[in-house]
Amino acid sequence: MLRGSCLGQRGDKNAKDNEGIQIPRYAILVNDMLNDFVDGKLSCKRVGQLIPRIKYFIENARQKNVPLFYCNDEHLPHDTYEFKLWGPHAIKGSEGAKVVDQLKPSGVDYVIPKRTYSSFEGTDLHKLLRAIYNGIGCNTVILVGVHTHICIKHTAFDALVRGFNIIVAEDGVTAFTEQDHLFGLEYMKTNYGVSIKKISEITRSIS
Ligand code: ZN
Repeated sequence: MLRGSCLGQRGDKNAKDNEGIQIPRYAILVNDMLNDFVDGKLSCKRVGQLIPRIKYFIENARQKNVPLFYCNDEHLPHDTYEFKLWGPHAIKGSEGAKVVDQLKPSGVDYVIPKRTYSSFEGTDLHKLLRAIYNGIGCNTVILVGVHTHICIKHTAFDALVRGFNIIVAEDGVTAFTEQDHLFGLEYMKTNYGVSIKKISEITRSIS
């Protein structure tokens, strides 16, 4: 069965439950869980600590047929504006640009190569999110990965302006420092209205 197909049969685009709440059709975006972000060019211990939590989360979600999108930096050598700020990282075809071994995509997951902070910019992500659930489309994206105040924040903004509900897994995202992480969460909550939830809570709400 295709990911999301069973949930998509719940009804039309605006299907609501008995209490009038719109039924969520989830997609999980796993952002930049790549070798370079864990122990490579942009090495960060805090990112490594996310791996077991994200692994638990996505394995559980796969069992429930929630579509998974791996949004991965895949830079070309002339992506100079990001390289000026961060140095070269996640170059297309390099080891550093591969998803860490513990979180490898399965054959039915979507892989979205990106070249900038937002996973929507210059990618097929929006088109694919609209195509899943038998063409009804996803209405709620769940964000995990890195970095809270950079790629997660920019992806959340682009999801917001495209009309998606957004959940950020507070223990499934991180940044170089706790301060950056907390800033990112607060900013998205205040300015984008994202829901900030723990992985355990999100897992319980996905049926
Ligand atoms: Zn990058």
